[in-house]
Amino acid sequence: MKVAFIGLGTMGIPMALNILNAGLELTVHNRTRDKEEIPAKAGALQAGSPQEAAAGAEIIITCVSDTPDVEAVILGEDGVIHGARAGSIVVDMSTISPSATRIIAEKLGKKGVKMLDAPVSGGSEGAQKGTLSIMVGGEADDLEKVGPVLRAMGETITHVGPIGAGQLTKAINQIVVGGTYWSVAEGVILGVKAGLDMEKVLQAVGSGAASSWPLINRSGNMIKNDYPLGFKVKLHRKDLNIALEIAREIGVTLPLAAYLEQVETGLIARGHKDEDLSAVARSIREQSGLD
Ligand code: NAP
Repeated sequence: MKVAFIGLGTMGIPMALNILNAGLELTVHNRTRDKEEIPAKAGALQAGSPQEAAAGAEIIITCVSDTPDVEAVILGEDGVIHGARAGSIVVDMSTISPSATRIIAEKLGKKGVKMLDAPVSGGSEGAQKGTLSIMVGGEADDLEKVGPVLRAMGETITHVGPIGAGQLTKAINQIVVGGTYWSVAEGVILGVKAGLDMEKVLQAVGSGAASSWPLINRSGNMIKNDYPLGFKVKLHRKDLNIALEIAREIGVTLPLAAYLEQVETGLIARGHKDEDLSAVARSIREQSGLD
């Protein structure tokens, strides 16, 4: 099975490596070409553009930052659409707008190219371990064809509905994730300022009903006040804006998501856009006179 992978960032590199480890034939492309070296050393071929990567591939995966970036790599001048052959399947694993996803799928469809939206959850750790949760929108037949590739990257693959449904599900995921990071930050900073032994606190709290992925994996960042990647603050704000746009369209209120979007806007304005999302604790630390 010939696979192309476009977008070798925090997530893309380990995901591409897992595809290679599963014994599949892989061609990679990244805008900043030197990032192709890691998968190339592990056996991937390199392509000079998304168009070139897509030519000859049966499955074309994209994992880039935001909606305009997916539009650029798929529909742009040297985009996937100009190289992909009829019958091939584009699998977009970025987190982007569901409505833009449907438009991209329609344009690909006119060339006989199929599309699935397959955003992921599980963080950079999940990408490295191949344990991502993958939320898929599109046709069941297409999902069956790409199954071996998705199983190389993820543990839980859920077909949630038609094209765009994966992105809608991911928006829900990001609302929940954001609120969880925020409440972990509130609890952790309270403990730090109260002078508690946080190792003991986390052992107790992490073994009960308050346990969560951010509590286990990111509370250490909040205690140290150091936020290595991870998942960039600017990417989570992008995701909250997707959720808020959907909510406005269908008439749902998301008060915490709206508040967090403002917190993250403040973090970005203060130069923290590329820090891990656990940097939301900065906001609570500052307001609590800790920094
Ligand atoms: P990242 O480290 O910032 O990497 C972004 C990637 O997209 C890079 O390869 C970048 O290329 C490429 N890119 C961005 N704009 C582009 C454009 N206009 N044309 C071509 N390439 C472009 O991001 P990431 O953390 O890997 O995230 C990728 C996607 O997965 C995002 O949608 C994110 O929301 C989602 N996601 C991330 C996580 C996480 O924990 N990090 C978890 C789940 C989902 P360059 O190298 O040239 O900049």
